[in-house]
Amino acid sequence: MDVKKLRDVDLDLSGVRVDRERKIERLNFWRHGKLGPNAEASFEAWLVEAIARERVIVRGPGFGRRVVNFVSAARKHVRAKRPQASPAVIAARLDVCRGSGDTPEPCELYNSDNGRCRHKKCGCNLRRKAAWLDQSCPIKLWPGDDGGSAENGEIEPIRGDSVV
Ligand code: SF4
Repeated sequence: MDVKKLRDVDLDLSGVRVDRERKIERLNFWRHGKLGPNAEASFEAWLVEAIARERVIVRGPGFGRRVVNFVSAARKHVRAKRPQASPAVIAARLDVCRGSGDTPEPCELYNSDNGRCRHKKCGCNLRRKAAWLDQSCPIKLWPGDDGGSAENGEIEPIRGDSVV
């Protein structure tokens, strides 16, 4: 697990009973990069174990934030004249989220229960988001996010999917 990706995710610590305040304090320091290298490594190890034991729950953004993020994404999409991604681009993007081939592990921020990204700046239904060519992964993991090419295609938007 790449715990660095969890810096931009809402973590539910309500299941942490021992030294809860201290854990929250350390979590806040960790988020802002203020833990020293040794403390950071031990905190990350604790976090991985706490997530595995479901004492810390990795949450996606709440409904309100998802609406804000979606409106922002939709504005960008309209400004770009609604470009649609080709099936190949959609598949390549979703492969990164869900894992496939050489990297079968899904992205740590992919929520397989509902197909959404759990990054604070996203929370999107990824089938819909991947079909909008102008969109990008919030941590730039999709092909072409680093400025390379992502071919255009001519498919209709996926209708009937909830985005927020
Ligand atoms: S959009 Fe990016 S951060 Fe979100 S699940 Fe996919 S690869 Fe991970």
